Amino acid sequence: MGQLIDFRKFSSQNAVRMCVCCRQRFMQSELFRLQINNAGIKLFDGNGRSFYLCEKCINSSKIIISLTKLKNAPKDKNIIKEQIEEIRIKWQKLD
Ligand SMILES: [Zn+2]
Repeated sequence: MGQLIDFRKFSSQNAVRMCVCCRQRFMQSELFRLQINNAGIKLFDGNGRSFYLCEKCINSSKIIISLTKLKNAPKDKNIIKEQIEEIRIKWQKLD
């Protein structure tokens, strides 16, 4: 278990951020912080640009469509679906 990075360390206390899907504001610590690079969508690793998703959106099917609209996102919905699923699994392991 020691190899798991705590992705939540990249959030600051009391900061409010917007979910890119529903556009509601949440405490940064409640949101999933993600990034898009050449490999697709993954949890933010501390480098480059990032965006936020709330827990409700990451668990809804609407999110796939929202993500295809983001710059540099994979255009294949199945790829996005798989990557979101991986992110959810990783996140659950942190709890
Ligand atoms: Zn949301």
